Amino acid sequence: MTTDQTLRLVLLGPPGAGKGTQAEFLCKQFGLAHISTGEILRESVAAGTELGNKAKSFMDAGELVPDELVIELIGERLDQPDCTDGFLLDGFPRTVEQARALKGLLGEMKIDLSHVLELKVASEELLARIARRGDQGSGRSDDNPEVAANRLEVYRKQTAPVTNFYNDFGLVTEIDGLGSIAEVGKRLADKLQSTGA
Ligand code: AMP
Repeated sequence: MTTDQTLRLVLLGPPGAGKGTQAEFLCKQFGLAHISTGEILRESVAAGTELGNKAKSFMDAGELVPDELVIELIGERLDQPDCTDGFLLDGFPRTVEQARALKGLLGEMKIDLSHVLELKVASEELLARIARRGDQGSGRSDDNPEVAANRLEVYRKQTAPVTNFYNDFGLVTEIDGLGSIAEVGKRLADKLQSTGA
């Protein structure tokens, strides 16, 4: 916990849990910088940058981009001035290694996370949601059933342990991710407000 009131959040949850949508909503409501590593990587792929070229094949297969690439990206992003008044990390950290690196980076900046929010959604519902997103033309090359199943598997193996990492610091609050976008958004916002944010 930080002693100041600046919100520095991590939003955890499996693919299809609604992280991106809820992240946008929370960032608007609380005036936070929205940092989505997935978005930054997709932009880098589209722009054909060196980072994008290195990341593309991993993303297309639903695998994680190597830790060192994402950690470097996050280090640069957290240095931007819009992060001073608070930020929300959406899709990072995705491995315990990344969580450790983030702890180090924030330590150097003499700040810490205020909350880790975890969106909980059952896996059958997740696959259905990703399939719907693909059908509705999300434009994401990884929103097809095979890659989606792999993304869930990768989540279980590599990302689920991140929750335990933060549990050890007493930072995690679970939020039920079932329901309408507005309902889930209200649950998240209520949680942040009830903790005096
Ligand atoms: P997302 O939009 O968060 O679902 O991310 C889309 C894809 O980008 C993921 O399936 C990964 O290939 C890659 N990606 C995004 N964030 C990370 C991260 N923190 N670590 C590794 N790969 C990531």
